Amino acid sequence: MRYIDEFQDPDLARRLLDDIHSIVTRPWALMEVCGGQTHTIIRHGIDQLLPEQVELIHGPGCPVCVTPLEVIDKALEIASRPEVIFCSFGDMLRVPGTGRDLFQVRSAGGDVRVVYSPLDALRIAQENPRREVVFFGIGFETTAPPNAMTVYQARKLNIPNFSLLVSHVRVPPAIEAIMESPSCRVQAFLAAGHVCSVMGLGEYPELAERYRVPIVVTGFEPLDILEGVRRTVRQLERGEHTVDNAYQRAVRPEGNPAAQAMLEDVFEVTDRAWRGIGVIPRSGWRLSPRYRQYDAEYRFSVTGIDTREPAECRSGEVLQGLLKPHECEAFGTTCTPRNPLGATMVSSEGACAAYYLYRRLDLTTPSLEASTVV
Ligand code: SF4
Repeated sequence: MRYIDEFQDPDLARRLLDDIHSIVTRPWALMEVCGGQTHTIIRHGIDQLLPEQVELIHGPGCPVCVTPLEVIDKALEIASRPEVIFCSFGDMLRVPGTGRDLFQVRSAGGDVRVVYSPLDALRIAQENPRREVVFFGIGFETTAPPNAMTVYQARKLNIPNFSLLVSHVRVPPAIEAIMESPSCRVQAFLAAGHVCSVMGLGEYPELAERYRVPIVVTGFEPLDILEGVRRTVRQLERGEHTVDNAYQRAVRPEGNPAAQAMLEDVFEVTDRAWRGIGVIPRSGWRLSPRYRQYDAEYRFSVTGIDTREPAECRSGEVLQGLLKPHECEAFGTTCTPRNPLGATMVSSEGACAAYYLYRRLDLTTPSLEASTVV
């Protein structure tokens, strides 16, 4: 398949690996920001094929994983109301809240529906004018523009029974929080290519300069990851710290101005809590005052939520790159994708799920031939 197969070429992968092995002279710790990149790395054993001096630390870029438990509990409360049709992408239905999940709300009679676009939820609102239709809008700079556009459409088409439960987050403040942490070991970042395709590169040079870290915009196929690592390690070995775009087939320096304009119109920047990390200043979006009437939190004014994180879940440490998933005692025993204790085991981008899917039975070092792709 075009743009997939050519970025999984084993010969090119071997050449990139040889190049990386030839440049490394000392230990380096790189963080891949996005959970999609983590899955590629673990699925193809890329971390095990790199020189042992190159450590990949898995970052917090999984939208489901960082959605705070309090927001999940609010979703459960709103979805339980008889007047509500609660719409969400499918991966949020199994994320455990305090004591239950959206599947359990549905089996108890709640009208919870899986949709494939926020516009599907808007259509449901048009078709059900006597019901309140809520869409669960989570994620990074990648999912925020379509959600913003849906709210924009709701106002334009005068659909008053639609609202958005918003928990959007932004990558650059998270990088800042990671670098400010006293336990930070990260020396460079593989930035998330799809986020940069929306927002461009403009927010990163200041971060690279302030923290003296290379930031290399990286894609999601095996060769993308290897090229991102190669460019990052080369900068580290030379003592450089610039922003480099290794994903030029998708990312322009200016990003997507139309998407940015939509974000600017509908949202405003706000402080946001990240699950397992805490509140990061200016790290999220909420609906701006002009669109406040479409804010589900404002419309339903949910109060009295008693949020309790499972004590044995260490996803906060996983999300900060302080713990590898298999180092959690619950991994693969009391916590599995079928019975997850934390969101990092549920999400298709979660680090715990990646280790469970691809590595739980295999702790040996794969050879190049044995690896799925490279
Ligand atoms: S393995 Fe399960 S319990 Fe442990 S950190 Fe991951 S999600 Fe939490």
